[in-house]
Amino acid sequence: LKQILGTGIDTQSAEPGMKARAAATFAARVQLEGVTKVYDGAGALNGVDLDVKSGEIVCLLGPSGCGKTTLLRVVSGIERPSSGRVLINEREVAGPNRFVPPESRGVGLMFQDFALFPHLTVLNNVAFGLKALPQADSLKAARAILDRVGLLDMASSYPSVLSGGQQQRVALARAILPRPAVMLMDEPFSGLDVQLREAMQEETLALLRETRATSLIVTHNPEEAMRMGDRIVVLRRGRVAQAGKAEELYHAPADLFVARLFSEINEFPARVRGGVVETPAGVFPAPGMEDGTQAVVCLRERGLNLTVNGNGGPGLPGRVLGVKFLGDSTRMDVAVAGFERPLKVRVDQQDALARGTEVKVGTAPGSVLVFAAETGT
Ligand code: ATP
Repeated sequence: LKQILGTGIDTQSAEPGMKARAAATFAARVQLEGVTKVYDGAGALNGVDLDVKSGEIVCLLGPSGCGKTTLLRVVSGIERPSSGRVLINEREVAGPNRFVPPESRGVGLMFQDFALFPHLTVLNNVAFGLKALPQADSLKAARAILDRVGLLDMASSYPSVLSGGQQQRVALARAILPRPAVMLMDEPFSGLDVQLREAMQEETLALLRETRATSLIVTHNPEEAMRMGDRIVVLRRGRVAQAGKAEELYHAPADLFVARLFSEINEFPARVRGGVVETPAGVFPAPGMEDGTQAVVCLRERGLNLTVNGNGGPGLPGRVLGVKFLGDSTRMDVAVAGFERPLKVRVDQQDALARGTEVKVGTAPGSVLVFAAETGT
């Protein structure tokens, strides 16, 4: 870490004889081509292709062990890929015949535990990233960024007296001060409580936009990915399961795994006949699936509409069995004719119904997804 931080300076583009300077961010494109990483015979990355546009903020999302951190480490240069290539601004930084060490890649790193140096003051922690500059300049720049993140009055404190949120700010300031072309952040908000996390996400986003750093942010939280990312890359078992804007992943998930990440859903089995699945809730298209395929039909909890006093109207008859207050929304368990188990229906708090209410249940367009049971696709 010290090595990388200490040289987050644009030494490479400096003319010979010129002093290193803080790099004006050259927005950098980051490409991965067929990247694999094998540990002890097991693949942590199994052929990742990724093209991150300069200045783009991409969130890497996926369950524990899917390879998110490994991908970040490969881009930073802390790890060498087993095969494949990594390019930063079209320049190969890792490949079969080339390996550029982390300190020469122009990347900034921020870790989950913030990794502040305990024996250095806040000011010196932040200035560390600019140690190639004359000390007066680096301290001046460090003070300016501390002011920007609201911590100037803590400049002479040591990390041990800081709260989690303050430590996060210091780590962010330290990582961003050298204006790295590429910012790599590993679960940067996971140690923070919910309210603080949202404030920190906003601040971080603002700083990343200001510096125009191309950013890869690792998270296992879909909401965080949607909030932070211009694009989200979902990883599963060391592969890209799907990449796209949040809306794309929500509306057109490539598989059941992605659907579950972005939407609360009811799942039930059905069999494909003539390109459709017939369910108690209606007939839905199952494009590209052969007759007899066992399918999983998903009804979004948010996509089920309940009508009270809908006697004679459209929809399936149902009855509210349970009501659960969940803060922003309320979830109801509704017994619906034709379904073995109650369906979960999510509504805004003011639309919640009392237990025992008789309802008619309809499905909103776009709220039904059909996947092949065996492959999940
Ligand atoms: P988490 O969210 O839990 O941090 P992750 O998605 O970041 O998970 P990685 O840390 O990239 O996952 O790990 C991917 C796989 O590679 C895991 O199976 C992990 O055990 C393995 N792995 C990671 N680093 C090493 C290592 N240094 N040596 C051996 N195996 C490793």
